[in-house]
Amino acid sequence: MPNTQMPNFQIPLTAQSAGSATSEMLETFMEFPVPLALLDSEGHLERVNSRFLEWFGADGLDAASLRALAHEANGMWRPVTAKHGGAVVRVRTLPLHLSQRILLILEYPNGGEHHGELDALHARISDLEQLAATDHLTGAWNRAHFDRVIESELARSLANRQPLSLIMFDIDHFKNVNDTFGHAVGDTVLCELVQLVRSRIRASDFLFRWGGEEFVVLLSSAGYRRAESVAENLRQTVASHTFQGAGVVTVTLGVAEHDGDEDAITWFRRMDDSLYEGKQSGRNRVVVARRGNSDVWAAEGGGSALHLVWQEGYECGDPTIDAEHRELFLLANKLIDAALPASAEPVAVKAALEEFLAHVQRHFSDEEAILARLHYDKLAEHRRVHAGLIRRALAMAAQLDAGELSLGTIVEYLAQDVVARHLAVMDRAFFPLFRKASTASSATPL
Ligand code: GH3
Ligand code: MG
Ligand code: MG
Repeated sequence: MPNTQMPNFQIPLTAQSAGSATSEMLETFMEFPVPLALLDSEGHLERVNSRFLEWFGADGLDAASLRALAHEANGMWRPVTAKHGGAVVRVRTLPLHLSQRILLILEYPNGGEHHGELDALHARISDLEQLAATDHLTGAWNRAHFDRVIESELARSLANRQPLSLIMFDIDHFKNVNDTFGHAVGDTVLCELVQLVRSRIRASDFLFRWGGEEFVVLLSSAGYRRAESVAENLRQTVASHTFQGAGVVTVTLGVAEHDGDEDAITWFRRMDDSLYEGKQSGRNRVVVARRGNSDVWAAEGGGSALHLVWQEGYECGDPTIDAEHRELFLLANKLIDAALPASAEPVAVKAALEEFLAHVQRHFSDEEAILARLHYDKLAEHRRVHAGLIRRALAMAAQLDAGELSLGTIVEYLAQDVVARHLAVMDRAFFPLFRKASTASSATPL
């Protein structure tokens, strides 16, 4: 039986506007004239709206069939026969990237167009999720968001064999700052510190407020050596800055790279130990746990030498497109691994190629929809190139069936056609569409 509870978006009570924004969003979700369901990252049903209940009744589509529909929809409009009543419905999913939830939409094939309203609903829920994941004093990500990000980044790191590092830092004698200059100045120091650190890390890195005057930076594609130099740069930047009303403030930093298959808690503890050591040995310093997967992976070479490496410059600023591009890299590298001479099994190569192709088709369709909404002037040409890339992937599948597909062909297609020519050159032409949007949003105080 569907769970009809109201959505709980875990908005912190401190957010002044969050309460009204949540009820507004709830109302929009519940009253939206199309059946909607919200699924969590594992595809479990969280809640459905009123129209959904009208259509399917309380004993309508069960959670398992909804999950199957979401899987089938795969990010696109596609006619699917609903289990109950035999009605033919169109199913579409809209991913909510921050919480990794999925908004599932069902429509009659000729039930009218709701695209504009759906986009607005999607945008509003995404904004609320952003609010719920943010620390309201400093604008850094909060701890709840850390828990989500760490799991997915760790999985990505291991799958892509790209090292991952954590830096934790804590303000030295911050109690004195509060005692001497007052709590309000202390708050200003925290905000200024966040701005300062943000200016020294990449857009793809994450800055979290762990609590009080403790912060964590998550650095993707960085081993402990790079993390150490980032940490040292942060230490010097902070120590040479004059904070409003408080003057000089220093921080102590602990660094640890993920190592082997340790869990997030063990990894975190090693970083915390480094920070503790830095505090004990005099503060205003960096202490590094000098081991990690980067050493092992660098020594191994092999498939990783052929792997596509994600670059910060590939990020356009639209969360859907960026997440899908990163996923594309992950699946491309899985395909390369499957096709390596040491492991090549036609069945495994075929499975990896099909998974890659399904993702690319879905991604191209999402990207085209987003660009269409922004009235991208080169969309027609972009669509043609997408179609060409799909045709080539289908041709590779045919070559594979005929036993004629080589690793070289796959790598050339992925590295040259998809990444070097398309993603790194052609896609860049639409980046300015999002740069405008992100400049505007970063101007609003977080
Ligand atoms: P240490 O060098 O060992 O880290 O010393 P410390 O004084 O920084 O550490 P301690 O943990 O004793 O004190 C942390 C202080 O941070 C106490 C607390 O009042 C202050 N603090 C925590 N959160 C906030 C905040 O949001 N605003 C302000 N102004 N102060 C805060
Ligand atoms: Mg402190
Ligand atoms: Mg502390």
